[in-house]
Amino acid sequence: MTSIDADRLMEAAKLSSPALRERTQRDGLCSKDQDRADEWFPPQPPETSSGARAHYEHTARALCTPCPVRAECLEFALRQEAGQRAWGIWGGLAPWQREPLVKARRRHDTAHDLASTTIRALSQAA
Ligand code: SF4
Repeated sequence: MTSIDADRLMEAAKLSSPALRERTQRDGLCSKDQDRADEWFPPQPPETSSGARAHYEHTARALCTPCPVRAECLEFALRQEAGQRAWGIWGGLAPWQREPLVKARRRHDTAHDLASTTIRALSQAA
């Protein structure tokens, strides 16, 4: 889970949300393979089903780990989810994996603090 490069995450945290969205849409692997959209954005399984959760998390990691804009995608998702219920796979993480990151980032507002908090939370989740 820590395959996101720390420097990339730090750089992503400095970008505006429109820039993050543009890069993700332009370079994201999922944007180049629309035929597999159901694999990248599967329906969220019931949180009580550990088998479904494990399958969902495995799918997220397998699809997003090689993506060249994974850090930008994760940063964009964490910003969008600051006040909303999370859904879908973003940056290789399932919604319930991103929720603790969103909460951990609430008290920080500099790019360095946001990236450091995200990297620390990712390390603890690994
Ligand atoms: S990290 Fe995953 S969801 Fe995000 S742009 Fe890349 S392939 Fe798509």
